Amino acid sequence: MKIEYEDSFVKISGLLGGEDYVKVSRALLNNENATDEEIASATGLKINMVRKCLYDLFGRSLITGIRVRDLKRGWFVYRWKAQRDQVDGFIDNQKRKALERLVQRLAYEESNEFYHCGSVSCRKYTFNEAMEVSFRCQACTKSLNLVNNAEIKEALSWKIAEIQKEST
Ligand SMILES: [Zn+2]
Repeated sequence: MKIEYEDSFVKISGLLGGEDYVKVSRALLNNENATDEEIASATGLKINMVRKCLYDLFGRSLITGIRVRDLKRGWFVYRWKAQRDQVDGFIDNQKRKALERLVQRLAYEESNEFYHCGSVSCRKYTFNEAMEVSFRCQACTKSLNLVNNAEIKEALSWKIAEIQKEST
């Protein structure tokens, strides 16, 4: 079986952990039910790196691991297998989470007024926080002015609409 780089399982792995994850996930697709050691020798990666990647993918339900006895050596090893049918669900789930975060952020921006002194290194204050410090920045003592967050809100709304469009 020849695996294309664009395989969505490989792509997702790459997004999660970069080039090492791409190597491990390709090795998994090329050799179903491979052990840690087999993947390490196929990829040239250190066994610890291979395991870190496998446990991560396993934790995200993108691969399964079956514990089997190594007949030659008598101890237990794991045989790993890609769960390619989980990939779409995983992507949908990530999108849904991203969407939730954006909607929350937008609601926060819409329900709060922010005050700032204008210095890049100083933080923003909500109205209540600004009231408490008499509209004076606690870091640099300059006065706090209302921040126009229209651009942020517009950017958030745009991103939300983009994700909603993709998932319909
Ligand atoms: Zn300041």
